[in-house]
Amino acid sequence: MSAHTVATWTSRSGKHTVTLYATGHRRRIARFTPARRARLVQSAGTLTHASKMPGPCAPSLPAGKGCPTGARLMSVPGSPCASCYAARLQVAYPSAGRAWERNLEALRAALADPAAARRWVYALAALLLEDAARLGETRVRWFVSGDLQNARHLALVLRVARLTPALRHRIPTQEQALLKRAMRKGLRTPANVRFQVSTPRVDRLTVWPQALPGVQVTSVSTGAYSCPASAPTVKACGGCDLCWRQDVATVTYRLH
Ligand code: SF4
Repeated sequence: MSAHTVATWTSRSGKHTVTLYATGHRRRIARFTPARRARLVQSAGTLTHASKMPGPCAPSLPAGKGCPTGARLMSVPGSPCASCYAARLQVAYPSAGRAWERNLEALRAALADPAAARRWVYALAALLLEDAARLGETRVRWFVSGDLQNARHLALVLRVARLTPALRHRIPTQEQALLKRAMRKGLRTPANVRFQVSTPRVDRLTVWPQALPGVQVTSVSTGAYSCPASAPTVKACGGCDLCWRQDVATVTYRLH
């Protein structure tokens, strides 16, 4: 039985029940009922729903407070973080900001305690799998807002990815130094993960050492761009797959 197997899917009074198993574990990681989902959300946070994205999005963290490097870049003119869309969203939709604060609390609990970390990993894997099954998608986006907090957080994110080999994880980050350190120490990027190293400067491409593979470099441009959804009239990724593809080295977005 593989990680993405939906073992049961029964409809009861319009509600569905899903049972998910993890690869190599043969243990049930979640049986979905509304009450069970609420407990999973308590452990891992609320998945973010971004209309542009085709599949599930991992729980967002507060813009600035949840971005170790990004918080500093917010006050640097010429950085994409200086016009952070997530910070604007937080102001426009305070309820989203409150949910992102709760997600950060759940993450901090997981970073502080191994038992909470196990709950966070399994709960998040289950929530992503369930959402992906419901949407008929395999593409997962991390950090619509927020970023990797530290090496321990990176390890937890990769545990979720390993537990869900049927999903493809796109992990954008401004934490270049953290990623480089981890890779030099022998970090193995799972085949279903694509890190996206974001540029700290608009109109400038980050140089990434070729010796550290498994990474796509992304830039933000005031001119030409390669992301189809950057066009003013296009609102969603649709069939575009560039950000998840292992054979695409760079993607450029339009500054918004
Ligand atoms: S490049 Fe493609 S996959 Fe990436 S954000 Fe743009 S439309 Fe979506």
